[in-house]
Amino acid sequence: MDLQTEINNAKYVVFMTGAGVSTPSGIPDYRSKNGLYTSSEELTPEYILSHDNLVNNPDGFYDFVIKNMYFPDAIPNVIHEKMVEITNQKGMVITQNVDCLHSKAGTKNLVEFHGNLYDIHCKKCGEEVDYHEYLTDYHHKKDGGLLRSSTVLYGENISPRALKESVEAITKADLIVIVGTSFKVYPFANLLQYRTTDTKVIAINKEDIEPEDGVEMIVSDAVDIFSKLK
Ligand SMILES: [Zn+2]
Repeated sequence: MDLQTEINNAKYVVFMTGAGVSTPSGIPDYRSKNGLYTSSEELTPEYILSHDNLVNNPDGFYDFVIKNMYFPDAIPNVIHEKMVEITNQKGMVITQNVDCLHSKAGTKNLVEFHGNLYDIHCKKCGEEVDYHEYLTDYHHKKDGGLLRSSTVLYGENISPRALKESVEAITKADLIVIVGTSFKVYPFANLLQYRTTDTKVIAINKEDIEPEDGVEMIVSDAVDIFSKLK
């Protein structure tokens, strides 16, 4: 199997991406062993990044996300860039990442499945606020309301629009490439069930993710693989 040939021959390519696509840009993988999920022993990550914690403990929530998740100066890497070239012509990127690197790279056809960290609004009045304001204080200057990002927290639902656009893209794809994710987060991983029977599926990850039958696994550094693509 040659990835270049597969991509060249495909009519519609969907990349499904996770944290491993952002780590080469200096953003830590918060689900990996050395990621920020294990940095706090008192609270589980599922709780820290939950809607309950946002509402009941806004100080703690804010402190955690500002220290661990915001990297506004991070820039896209070769993986993002090659995906732009491919999907702007014939495909879609569906990402679990909330860091906006795919959109910064210029990806036109993009679903941010879990929202993102930089679209900020006030929970009280609904107004959209520049993220720079959020980085200095989580209280809306105007009315004291709680500012938050569009990131989907534990206990919250995926946006119906993101789900619909993802399912449509997966159904349309004749090639799906899963990159930089353990593919254990649901419902993201469930999206694969909407593919048609003759769709080729390839997973690229540094560690074997032991995918379901019919998925071809490439255990490798995605930076190396994407650097070689034309
Ligand atoms: Zn407000």
